[in-house]
Amino acid sequence: MRRITLTGAELEGFAPAGPASYIKLIFPEPGQTEPTRPLPDGPRAVSMRTYTPLALRPETLEVDVDFVLHGEGPASTWAAQASVGQVLFLMGPGPGYAVDADARQHLLIADDSALPAVETILAALPASARAQVLLEVISEAEQRPLHSAAALDVTWLPRGADHRSAGQPLEKALRSLPPLHPDTRIYLACEAAAMRRLRQLLIDELGVERSRIVGRGYWKLDVVNHPDHDYGEDS
Ligand SMILES: Cc1cc2nc3c(=O)[nH]c(=O)nc-3n(C[C@H](O)[C@H](O)[C@H](O)COP(=O)(O)OP(=O)(O)OC[C@H]3O[C@@H](n4cnc5c(N)ncnc54)[C@H](O)[C@@H]3O)c2cc1C
Repeated sequence: MRRITLTGAELEGFAPAGPASYIKLIFPEPGQTEPTRPLPDGPRAVSMRTYTPLALRPETLEVDVDFVLHGEGPASTWAAQASVGQVLFLMGPGPGYAVDADARQHLLIADDSALPAVETILAALPASARAQVLLEVISEAEQRPLHSAAALDVTWLPRGADHRSAGQPLEKALRSLPPLHPDTRIYLACEAAAMRRLRQLLIDELGVERSRIVGRGYWKLDVVNHPDHDYGEDS
């Protein structure tokens, strides 16, 4: 994971659209030093990917984005080499997760691509809430303190660098949880196939009502630029 701070006069007035909101970032194509500026009627940028505005500092026009350095891919390779002065284009924000402020129990299940989203959700939970958090990361080095007004129970699940096992540590941890309170609100964001498996596990084996689950496929194994808005509701 690498944190990059984006800054620019165009961030005047920028505000995330709630917890787990997203932005679109446009990266340079091979051979370009800067990406092509997007035009309203122009073609869709090839190297455009979706990220989470993690922290915003309006007074200095800065926004932090945490990039998983997973290997090949315009976003990951750009983030691995990024240095001060390089240029990206940012579009958005788009809406995220509507936190139910009246709910007492929350279960957040995510891999490292959704760790920033989880942090923004935790920041929005009230002190009256309790949140169980299962986080799958590449290595123990990715663990960091999480902050919330809510009472937290956090489990870090290092999976190693083999992305093919994405979701397996989450599945094992989910199976070993004590029975869930029927009213628990669940946010589930990770690799798309794993998200579907975990969603089915929650519904079929753990008896969770579908309407209590918000699923998000944040990336998909062996798929370049997996589309946004993959909610897993087709399964
Ligand atoms: C709403 C939303 C918010 C997101 N926020 C963040 C964020 O804050 N930080 C973040 O790091 N990601 C975030 N993601 C995920 C990110 O958009 C994808 O990981 C994206 O595919 C990365 O683009 P890329 O150019 O690096 O790889 P791509 O060109 O899309 O893919 C190239 C290869 O890399 C693999 N790959 C892609 N992502 C991963 C990964 N995370 N782990 C392992 N292998 C991968 C693909 O399977 C493919 O084989 C978010 C996604 C969504 C939908």
